[in-house]
Amino acid sequence: MHQPILILMAMEAEAAPVGEALKLGPPQALNPQLPSRVRIGDVSGSATILVTHGRDDHFGVDAIGTQPAAVTAWAAATHYRPRLIINAGTAGGFARHGAAVGDVYLSDGPVVYHHRRIPLGAFEPYGIGSYPSMEAGPLARALNLKLGRLTTGDSLDLSDADARAIESSGASIKDMEGAAIAWVASVLSVPFLAVKSITDLVDAPHPTADQFMQNLDHAVSRLAGVMPQLIPLLATPA
Ligand code: SAH
Repeated sequence: MHQPILILMAMEAEAAPVGEALKLGPPQALNPQLPSRVRIGDVSGSATILVTHGRDDHFGVDAIGTQPAAVTAWAAATHYRPRLIINAGTAGGFARHGAAVGDVYLSDGPVVYHHRRIPLGAFEPYGIGSYPSMEAGPLARALNLKLGRLTTGDSLDLSDADARAIESSGASIKDMEGAAIAWVASVLSVPFLAVKSITDLVDAPHPTADQFMQNLDHAVSRLAGVMPQLIPLLATPA
C-alpha cells in the first residue's frame, strides 16, 4: 500500500466539511491518551487520513494552538508514516498583500513563528524558526490558488511585536498551528504543505475575532471545495 497523505486540522468546524467533501469515514479515536480524532478514506487512489486535535477536556473547546498541534502531528505521523503532511484550516490574511476573505492560500517558502522572541545570539533565529514547505507553485497555478509565506503564533490577535516580526519575515498568512506541524514534518523528514482559507484580514479595522466568527462558514466551504481537487494532484503514480 502507498504511504498515506496526512491532513492535520485544528478545529472540528473546519474538519467536518472537509471530511465530508473527501468522503472520509466517521471520526474515531487516534490514541487512547489524546482527544485527537481521525477520519480515514481513499481519495483518487490515495490513502487519506484527516486528524483533528480534538476537544480540550478541561476547557471544552477545540485544542487549537501550537502545543496540541505538535503533539498530535507527532502521534499521527509516527503511527501512519505519511509521505506528505498537510496542515489545512483557516488563517488571517493581509489586505496589503491583496488577500480577501475566502481566498485559499498554499504555503510558499519556509514556515516561521512571529511570537518567539529570544534575543540571545543563535537562539534568536531558532525562535523565529524556518521549516520547509514543499514547492507549491505548480499546484497553485493548476488550482488558481494564492501563494504566501505562513507565520504562526499562539494568539489570535496581533501585538505590536508580532506585527514587526511579520513585517520582517514578509509573511502573508497568519495562523496558530502551521509552524508547529511543519517543525514535526521537518524532524521526521516528511514534506509539508499548508492549505489555509482566509477568515479575517489582520490589517482591517474590525476586530479579528468578530471577522473570524462572521466568515468562518464561508472560508471553510471554500477550503472544502479545494481539498477534493488538491489531493488527486498529490497522488503518487501507480
Ligand atoms: N474564536 C474562535 C477561535 C478560533 S481561533 C472560536 O471560538 O471558534 C482561530 C483558528 O483559526 C486557529 O486554529 C488559527 O490557526 C486560525 N486563524 C484564523 N485567523 C487567524 C488569525 N488572524 N490569526 C491567527 N490564527 C488564525
